[in-house]
Amino acid sequence: MLLRHTPETLIERSALTINPAKTCQPVGAMYAALGIHKCMPHSHGSQGCCAYHRSALTRHYKDPIMATTSSFTEGASVFGGQANILEAFTNIFTLYDPDIVAVHTTCLSETIGDDMPQIINKAISENKIPPGKTVIAASTPSFKGSHVTGYSNMVSAIVKHFCKSSGKRTDAINLIPSFIEPSDMSEIKHIAESMGVNYIMFPDTSDVVNGPMDGKFRMYPKGGTTKEELEAAGDSMLTIALGRTGTLDCAKLLDTKCKVPAEVIDLPIGIEATDAFVDLLRTRAGVSVSDELLVERGQLVDVLCDMNQYTYGKKVSLVGDPDILVGLVRFCKEAGMEILHVVTGTKAGPKFDRKIREIAGEKTVIKAGAQADMFYFHQLVQNDRPDLILGNTYCKYIARDMDIPLIRTGFPIYDRIGHSYFPITGYRGSLRLLEKILDTLMDRIDRDAAEEKVELVM
Ligand code: SF4
Repeated sequence: MLLRHTPETLIERSALTINPAKTCQPVGAMYAALGIHKCMPHSHGSQGCCAYHRSALTRHYKDPIMATTSSFTEGASVFGGQANILEAFTNIFTLYDPDIVAVHTTCLSETIGDDMPQIINKAISENKIPPGKTVIAASTPSFKGSHVTGYSNMVSAIVKHFCKSSGKRTDAINLIPSFIEPSDMSEIKHIAESMGVNYIMFPDTSDVVNGPMDGKFRMYPKGGTTKEELEAAGDSMLTIALGRTGTLDCAKLLDTKCKVPAEVIDLPIGIEATDAFVDLLRTRAGVSVSDELLVERGQLVDVLCDMNQYTYGKKVSLVGDPDILVGLVRFCKEAGMEILHVVTGTKAGPKFDRKIREIAGEKTVIKAGAQADMFYFHQLVQNDRPDLILGNTYCKYIARDMDIPLIRTGFPIYDRIGHSYFPITGYRGSLRLLEKILDTLMDRIDRDAAEEKVELVM
């Protein structure tokens, strides 16, 4: 009901954000840390921040998310959180026994100016960090950036602390995915394994936040990249960074630090982008494309062709994270759809705009950054009504208010399941995404058809 007060008249804003189309940096940093085996994410700030970051991930994955906090109170807010985190290290290693503690900062600790490298050095000199254990830290103030920036910053911290060059190159290829679902990470690994590529993926949240229920609680599930794999990543022959916004900085850092060259490509969503990923693996690893992948590709092409009359010309508006948006926009175009609006709360730079414009065409409205919020997205949708919205759970109010079908994509998805188990990347994931698009559009045709026009066969 409240949404009915969103005016249709668009006014460019320079300061105010209304219902941001993003979450805060530490959410992404926490998620990246969970993709490292036996790693405990630690939030250096108040309990409230940590509770929010954990609940965002718990609600999205419907699984408990382990993390610790420096538990700032009034004193720490004034004098800094050094004493809190030093005590926290003792408690965490004694009670929870992680191999790694991955600290991310918060708005509060960054505003105070806590110097994390100095604090970690002090913890080492005071023997607060047991032998063989590691503490890493990423700066993730949430008064700038988004969960995607936080994810990227934590992956950079992982590279900085673990990746080493021994001087001997291996034939391994590093795969660094942007902030995507564990199911998507599994699908990307499936492609590499199907072609017999020797790879190291990091971070890797598959089998961590989507593990099976077997009646046993595990503080550290079996998934996640190991410390040894991270160290070996410095000797790999190539890094393939999948999704520019979430991976460019860490791929560059790995190149600078260990001289591992990087290819930064788009997430493999749809035919063209998955072909590009498969071809890069094929040429750089010197392997052949497997029959299995050819069948998966053929099935996707078959359904795209068979069902084209239901997707062709349909108008779609999208909101989400830049790397996923690039993939979704390209796939929607492959299905013959028209892209009306592309909105992301994450500042993505001119290359993002150019890429979307190249794929979607001149007419598409593109907006990224702080003022690209849900309020603005609603205004756009009011001015030019799409047949379909692709976006996260927060779109449901707009979709309901305007009676526009919504397909939940991206982060966060609090009100449906499936995203952590079924991918949208690779040929198989794209086929699933296409199925969801078709189901949604065809359900709408069935719902709206006059009784005598309801078709049994479509
Ligand atoms: S205070 Fe900052 S870090 Fe904490 S939850 Fe809010 S935006 Fe996130």
